[in-house]
Amino acid sequence: MPELPEAEVVARQLRDKLLGATLAGIWIGRADIVREGYPTRAWYENAGLESVSRYGKSVALAFKKDNQVRYLVAELGMTGLLLFPSAQVKHPQHVHVRLTFAGGGETEVRYWNPRRFGRMSLVDQTGLDRYIERRFGCDPLSVEQPEFSRILKVRRGRLKPLLMHQQIIAGIGNIYANEILFRVGLHPNAQASRLSHAKIERLYRVMREVLQEAIFCGGSSVKDFFAPDGTQGKYKQHHLVYGKEGEPCPNRCGKVIRRLQSERSSFYCPTCQRSS
Ligand code: ZN
Repeated sequence: MPELPEAEVVARQLRDKLLGATLAGIWIGRADIVREGYPTRAWYENAGLESVSRYGKSVALAFKKDNQVRYLVAELGMTGLLLFPSAQVKHPQHVHVRLTFAGGGETEVRYWNPRRFGRMSLVDQTGLDRYIERRFGCDPLSVEQPEFSRILKVRRGRLKPLLMHQQIIAGIGNIYANEILFRVGLHPNAQASRLSHAKIERLYRVMREVLQEAIFCGGSSVKDFFAPDGTQGKYKQHHLVYGKEGEPCPNRCGKVIRRLQSERSSFYCPTCQRSS
């Protein structure tokens, strides 16, 4: 579930509480949670937290020691959480990594993820560059509009899967794709390459508005998303179509919100959302 807004909320809280703190200890409960770099884990002890960045739905912590920088990248994916000790976890057996900090506003960050394999990477700059290049397309919050238009124009296929294709546009998942498309008035099956210039401009603007507003609300807590401090995101209260099958269209067009037959998780209004 965590998508771009939730990952951004996580990155901001970590930055807020732990920038400049020293990593006093790193405990990894099982080696197979680390996708790459497991043998380098001892390096991280006594390194300082230099910066926290978000890439798509992942969060990268940059540590510095002896003029060397290495990264710890945590995938939030469908189920991952990074939590401070004050946040209560339902199934503590899924805490696979504990980072202990000294000199920060929090003493620990726990990586909680019920899916175990390869969800964290310990990499140097080259490894991080490779990681980003392999996994992430443009970022919806930093891509310029002409580049976004070009990306849409050259792709054949349906709009909703394109918005959710992480290697093309990184960070949007099912919830925000549904919400963005309803607000733009575009059908999930619209052909991306056939959209008019004006429609693409509007899509670009609405996409960013929705994501920014969701970040402002602390994200959406749908399937157990908690920020590091344990708070839930409030953007769920602003959802217009996601999970609203059978409810009247918020535009008061007289129709009810439906699900795509082929895709049970696509919600849309048959009247307000057009194919072009
Ligand atoms: Zn409608």
